Amino acid sequence: MRKSTPAPKKKMLEEYRRKRDFDVTPEPSGRPNSRNGPKAKLLYVIQKHQASHLHYDFRLEWRGVLLSWAIPKGPSLDPSVKRLAVQVEDHPIEYGSFEGVIPEGEYGAGTVMVWDKGMWLPEVSDVDAALAKGELKFQLFGNKLRGSWVLVRTRLNRSGKSQWLLIKHRDEYATSEDVEAAMPQSAASRRLMADIARAGRGDVTKAAKADPAGTPAR
Ligand code: MN
Repeated sequence: MRKSTPAPKKKMLEEYRRKRDFDVTPEPSGRPNSRNGPKAKLLYVIQKHQASHLHYDFRLEWRGVLLSWAIPKGPSLDPSVKRLAVQVEDHPIEYGSFEGVIPEGEYGAGTVMVWDKGMWLPEVSDVDAALAKGELKFQLFGNKLRGSWVLVRTRLNRSGKSQWLLIKHRDEYATSEDVEAAMPQSAASRRLMADIARAGRGDVTKAAKADPAGTPAR
């Protein structure tokens, strides 16, 4: 009997895999986590967020959501600098392209910029185990951030929000340059915070304080 809806892709792959021995056949297994790492592209994004306090929301796509950390001082390219990253609730994937103004009175009211975006690649074979252990090593392929990084959990808050540290590993992308000051424009629109606030009828004066002094408007 014909079904009106096609079988889910996952189920079709299960059958595909059941019929094959990938230790023997050179055919692809189609597994997202093979020994060579994930084949799927995983989204990475940092949103600069001028809410009650300026912070940078660091997000990594995993299992259909964006794992999220709020980093008050933003990332540092200097391996000797450890930046506090407070884990917050998972966000939907679509959130990664949001740039605009969250209205006054709403949660997180203020200006949001897509400060950096690209892909990430785990450096571990088991991301879930690494997250549970509290040490996730990965590579970033963004417009601004690149190379090898680690998130290390330091403690759990009473609220259940855990504190982590984001640290740059030593590689060719490590530098003492202040990346927030050097590259303040949106990775999505090239706009500054003030530009985004103005377009979204937000608080331009407050947003402008998050732009480095003397940065020319677009
Ligand atoms: Mn935020």
